[in-house]
Amino acid sequence: MPISTPLTKALGIRIPVVQGGMQWVGVPALASAVSNAGGLGMLTALTQPSPDALRKAIKETQGLTSKPFGVNITLLPSINPPDYEGYARAAVEEGVKVFETAGNNPGPLIKFLKSKQCYIIHKCTTIRHAKSAQKLGVDCLSIDGFECAGHPGEQDIGGLVLLARAAQDLSIPYIASGGFADARGFVSALALGAAGINMGTRFMCTVESPIHQNIKEKIVASDETDTVHIFRTLGNTARVFKNAVSKEVVRLERRPQGAKFEELRDLVSGARGRTVYETGDSDAGIWSAGISVGLIKDIPTCQALLNRLEKEGEEIIKGRLGGLCVGDDTDQVKAKL
Ligand code: NAD
Repeated sequence: MPISTPLTKALGIRIPVVQGGMQWVGVPALASAVSNAGGLGMLTALTQPSPDALRKAIKETQGLTSKPFGVNITLLPSINPPDYEGYARAAVEEGVKVFETAGNNPGPLIKFLKSKQCYIIHKCTTIRHAKSAQKLGVDCLSIDGFECAGHPGEQDIGGLVLLARAAQDLSIPYIASGGFADARGFVSALALGAAGINMGTRFMCTVESPIHQNIKEKIVASDETDTVHIFRTLGNTARVFKNAVSKEVVRLERRPQGAKFEELRDLVSGARGRTVYETGDSDAGIWSAGISVGLIKDIPTCQALLNRLEKEGEEIIKGRLGGLCVGDDTDQVKAKL
């Protein structure tokens, strides 16, 4: 039985699971595999070197799936400032109707995409930002807790409270992001009022993910203590895998004099991080990973992963949670949660 939510209804997808944008990972092979498996796959615009390259990636994805997929556009400090407007225009012109937006000052981008009747899922790490995006007219929010990979903002609010706050204060649908990798998380997000979940790190560790097998195996071998925040002192915090390079960045930042971005640039550049995924050397550069690495124990296909989430999610909702009793009738409690 499909789990129907405002997200599945709005997008016409089977299961309310979004593959979040991931630098170097959100490419046609992965995005189409997620969409074909019933979720919403997402191309990462900035992974493509130019708006024209994004056009090609969109066409390639359209050739691999007839299901909906989206494009992520993230507005954050960059070593080479990207042509955001060009990427957005290219995606709209190629027929993309769903966007994941994230980062700073998204107003003009949101305005442009809404003028083209696109469905926007905007990623936020605070309720204040979520409410501003709601006012700007986005269709859905992706509420991103402290557990997430990449940029969690500077407020450090865990998903549990952030999602419950979203339920109190937001009037449009929202999905839960940060720390989700299994059916327990999926169902807990629905209980917290979310219309679905966003997963990133979990999708890095699938058969169709374009990263080197060594890195997938590294994720499986890792636990929830294996990530670290960099750029804390620069107000651009990012959660990445704890390795030789990220430890060095943190060491430089923690010196009494701190660190300027220029001193860190060669260590942290995305171009260097990309070699991790290409060569399989997990110490070659910075690579994003969420705390959910601790939950990931295998490398399934996207189809197997989403089937499992759906099946186990239903079992939890109908079986275990259904077996719980409310009130005095504790003898009837069958659930082993
Ligand atoms: P990059 O090589 O431009 O920069 C590497 C890292 O340094 C990024 O985390 C970036 O935010 C940070 N950075 C750059 N200039 C900075 C400055 N002046 N002060 C503080 N921090 C600074 O990054 P990239 O890997 O080529 O990625 C391009 C952009 O996409 C970056 O903004 C990055 O944060 C963002 N990104 C997006 C996703 C996604 O899922 N869409 C994932 C990771 C990164």
